Amino acid sequence: MRDSCQQFIDGQWRASDGGRDLDVVDPYRETVIAKLPAGNARDVDEAVRAAREALPAWRRLSGEARGRYLEGLADGLAERHAALCQTISLNGGKPLAESQLDVDDAIACYRYYADLARQLDARQGEPSAQPVAGVQIRRYFDPVGVVGLITPWNFPLVTAAWKIAPALAAGCCIVFKPSEVVPMPEQAIADIAQAIDLPRGVLNLVNGDGRGIGEALTQHTGIDKISFTGSNPTGETVMRVAATGIRNVSLELGGKSPIIVTEDADIAQAASLVMNGIFANAGQICSATSRLLVHQAVAEDLYAALSRHIDALVMGDPLDEATTLGPLVSDKQRTTVDRYLAFAKDEGLIPVREASHREIPRQGFFVAPTLFRDVPVESRLWREEIFGPVLCARQFASDDEAVAVANDSDYGLAASVVSGGHERASAIARHLTAGSIWTNIDQVAPPQAAWGGGKKSGIGRELGPEGLAAYQELKQVMAPADT
Ligand code: NDP
Repeated sequence: MRDSCQQFIDGQWRASDGGRDLDVVDPYRETVIAKLPAGNARDVDEAVRAAREALPAWRRLSGEARGRYLEGLADGLAERHAALCQTISLNGGKPLAESQLDVDDAIACYRYYADLARQLDARQGEPSAQPVAGVQIRRYFDPVGVVGLITPWNFPLVTAAWKIAPALAAGCCIVFKPSEVVPMPEQAIADIAQAIDLPRGVLNLVNGDGRGIGEALTQHTGIDKISFTGSNPTGETVMRVAATGIRNVSLELGGKSPIIVTEDADIAQAASLVMNGIFANAGQICSATSRLLVHQAVAEDLYAALSRHIDALVMGDPLDEATTLGPLVSDKQRTTVDRYLAFAKDEGLIPVREASHREIPRQGFFVAPTLFRDVPVESRLWREEIFGPVLCARQFASDDEAVAVANDSDYGLAASVVSGGHERASAIARHLTAGSIWTNIDQVAPPQAAWGGGKKSGIGRELGPEGLAAYQELKQVMAPADT
């Protein structure tokens, strides 16, 4: 692991004259593990210039050739698999088993878009599926141009792969800003780009915080599109800034996703799915199913099963393979979650598994896993994204009621349904307003399936063919039909 991150611009690692070092912290040991030299607007400017210079050649390259580079990025991640898992757990605090899934997901994403890049060659100039008498319509898929990619700290490598892979496949050049909170894993992608001789300027990485680098990137007029994943307030700022110059924007924002458990569900399976939906990554997941809606006939059974599972969670060193619940990513995030637990006290919420029942480790930014029952729909904890290991539950009497309460949210990112019958689960899913819905299955996010939501959860889709289209401009060339 690099002990100091620099800026990767125009194919070279460079020192910045930003003049400021940011601390990179291990959230379990609460120690500084690296210094992050924060870049400045000049670094962003140089990165954008490098990307613009690289664009004409990169966009003209065949999809086949771009696909080979994407395979190279996937291979590079695979070679570094074990080291990357250690880095993600050390810097981000998630248990090793979860870091392994992250690296696997990132690799799968680069391979998937390598494939779509290769398929792109045959699709260029395809006839329109909507024939018009006397007119020949051919479709071409041009890259959007130079894109600014901004990612958060909760899924390093993964959220980056969801943007970098389709952007490169489409023929875009990139200026990428990882989160200052968990920047260490992301440095690998620039190292690999250098190792596989990705043409200079195609992928640039600029380290620093949101204020310094994020703002400079979103404001830069040399950026044709911003793709952002993170919080709603920052997403609103990004969108506002992108309005200047009418620049394209994709936003993947927050969630307050429901999980519905019907009375015919297998309680052991339901408990497992509920646990994974909220306590994986200590609840720091945009699609965390943080609102549990359980049929009144089985509520007590499910609460009892969940209590047993919560008791069995092992809080400790994320690098220890026995750990199943790591610390939150930062002291700031712990403070945010603690504030919600204080609201819960003020609101008189009833914990099924009270924080005080679990002793939290003495070191690390831990919050005890907590389950509140009978949470009113007006509660802040029911309505707002907490981003921590806090589950709010309430009961329902009919499927219609469950759907209505589930949909009564500002967000529309994801949802889960656990039910004894597949048809019933599908019928409920059909009426839920969310981009991704899992029925009787864990939260899988394969690269083949589009990801994103409506309402305040964002704009646009990542992954799948839609994720590629997000980095393309459709061009239609029309001519007389007999040409
Ligand atoms: P932010 O939205 O602030 O950060 C996300 C990314 O945006 C980071 O790379 C950040 O940089 C960058 N950024 C910050 N300010 C700007 C700006 N003005 N212009 C451009 N980029 C900017 O999230 P936080 O890390 O502060 O987390 C706060 C809350 O957001 C969490 O408690 C959670 O509720 C939510 N969140 C949601 C996520 C999701 O996946 N939906 C992911 C992460 C957080 P830097 O971190 O380097 O300052």
